[in-house]
This record gives sequence, C-alpha cells and structure tokens, in this order.
Amino acid sequence: MTVRTRPDLETLPGYQPGRTIPGAIKLASNEVSLGPLPSVRGVIAEAAAGVNRYPDMGVTALVDRLSAKFSIEPGRLAVGCGSVALCQQLVQAMCGPGEGVLFPWRSFEAYPIVTQIGAARAIRVPLTGAHALDLDAMLAAITEDTRLIFVCTPNNPTGTTLRRAELERFLDAVPKGPLVVLDEAYKEFITDPDVPDGIELARDRDNVAVLRTFSKAYGLAGLRVGYCYAPEEVAEAIRKVCVPFSVNMIAQAAAIASLDAEDELMERCRMISGERDRVRGELLSMGYDVPETQANFVWLPLAERGAAFNAHCLEQKLVVRQFPEGVRVTISTPEENDLFLAAARSFSAG
Ligand code: PMP
Repeated sequence: MTVRTRPDLETLPGYQPGRTIPGAIKLASNEVSLGPLPSVRGVIAEAAAGVNRYPDMGVTALVDRLSAKFSIEPGRLAVGCGSVALCQQLVQAMCGPGEGVLFPWRSFEAYPIVTQIGAARAIRVPLTGAHALDLDAMLAAITEDTRLIFVCTPNNPTGTTLRRAELERFLDAVPKGPLVVLDEAYKEFITDPDVPDGIELARDRDNVAVLRTFSKAYGLAGLRVGYCYAPEEVAEAIRKVCVPFSVNMIAQAAAIASLDAEDELMERCRMISGERDRVRGELLSMGYDVPETQANFVWLPLAERGAAFNAHCLEQKLVVRQFPEGVRVTISTPEENDLFLAAARSFSAG
C-alpha cells in the first residue's frame, strides 16, 4: 500500500447497531415500533418532490419552530443528522488533540467512538452499583484539560435518571472549563415530575448544553434529526463543523410535521411509559433485578448470563440488545411486550 489510514483507528470499535432479523421482533434500538402518523407520511411524500434541490443548510424552519416551542433564541440551536452527529460535532468543536471528554460508563456507546474519532481522550467513570451515574466520581475525574462532560439522563442502556437536586448540585459543582452536555434522547418518556427539564437548567447557565432527538419519541429514527441547545458561541461552533447539508429536506419537513402532531405522538409516549412500568413490575415479580427506568427500555444487569438470555430471546424471535454487563430491551406495544415477558418467564424457569 502506498497510502495509510490513521494508525489509531485500528483500535476504534465502530458503532454496532441493533440487529434487524427478518421475521423477528426488534426490541434492540429503542425505536418506537409504531410507524409514522399518516400526516407525517403525507409531508414526507410531499417533501420528496423537491429533492433535486439542496436542503436549507440553516434548517431555518425547524430552528424557528423549536425556538418558538421552547422560547429560546434561535442562535442557541444547532440541528444535526441525528443527535449522534451532534455528539461528534461537539467533540470537534470543543476538543483539541488529547483533551478530555468525560462520560459515565456504561453509557451511550457513541461517546467513546466520537471521542476517538476526534483524537480527544476518553475519561470513563464507572456507574454506581445501582447502575446509575456516579456524579461524585465524575466530579472527581474532571481534569484541567477536560473540555466536555456527557451526562446521559435517562442513561442508555441502564435507564437510570437523575433527579433535580442531584443534577443541580452537580452542575453547580462543575468547575469553570468543561461544557456539560445533558443527553436527553429519552426525555419524552419521563413521567417522574422530580426529573428536571434540561432546557430549563441550561437556559441561564453558560456551560451547559442539551441534546434531544426526533429518533425516539417522535418516531423518525430513519430520517436522522436531532438538535442541540447550547450557549451561543458553542452552538455556532457546532454549526461550523457540520458536514454541509447533512440534515436533508425530508427530515426537516418530517420533524416539523411531527411537532404539528405532537399531541398524538405524546399520547404514544404515555402508552409506552405505562407499558415500561408494567414490564418492569412483572420482571421484578419474576425475580429479575431491573433498575428503575424513565426511558423506553428496561435494563437487565445479567452480566455473563446475558448471552444465554439473548440467545433464548432470539429463539423466541425477539431481538434484544446484549452488552457485556447485561441486556437492554426496548418497550413496544402491549402485545410485543407480552411476548418478551413470556420469554423472560421461560428463561427464569429454565
Ligand atoms: N443519545 C443517546 C443516549 C442515545 O441512546 C441515542 C440513540 N441510541 C442517541 C443519542 C442518538 O440518537 P440519534 O442519532 O438517532 O438522534
């Protein structure tokens, strides 16, 4: 070979998506299993007529809509090709080579990947024994050159969620220097009123950003739209490092149509949150350890038994998501959840 790729990429694991297996039910990627609403589909079809033109790179219509919805300045918003792209843009915008990106672990698997791609340095802080973010340990791990701190709440894959007092105490204790990114990908499934709204927390702080997505509650995972609310200079820097035109026009139109249909979509979320509490209750009564979750998934910290659980689910044509520490299962419709509960019951009996 006369060329070479970056040697440090040899150790980059690459993002592992949840598997899609024909004929099996996918409970592996925390998607909403119900298809797009007819009104959203109609808008998607209409937007397709314009794809000979480039999209609006400023994503102006969606930014204006979000700005009005949350009463926030449009200059503090950046829209990206999914919030995962915004995670990567945040590293690019905030970190020089070797500078620190701190995050809980286990958490969203893209954090270490985007850190390495950005040639920054990952600082992983283990979760508590209760599968929750260890905020004291995260504070203690902040170094002079830490530029970014990802706080995933609810945490993917464990579902554990920070309450107001602990999160405010953490934000108040973070020293000057790093940007704290509250990753709220599962925000809309939260039912506990003691969980604070990240946008409210970020409003008057100059070192806090919030990530949200249209992939989960809004059911648009396949179209790739997420947004970041950040201090103005940070939002500007994130917009600068984006891949030009990365948010396509169908995605922009569908996101706006989803905001138009928000009442109906939030109704779905309430169904899923109710199902989540039911599924967790049933798993607990079967003897499983399941941390309290505010997301659209449950976490079974099965450690090495996870592989057998995963295989058992696959035999029942259910695709769940296995990690070294356990198994994450997406909450779906009552019928699909019942199929999963039956599999969990036969595993525990077997
Ligand atoms: N943050 C968290 C915590 C996630 O779980 C996910 C998706 N799995 C994302 C961000 C990225 O979502 P998307 O890129 O689809 O917006």
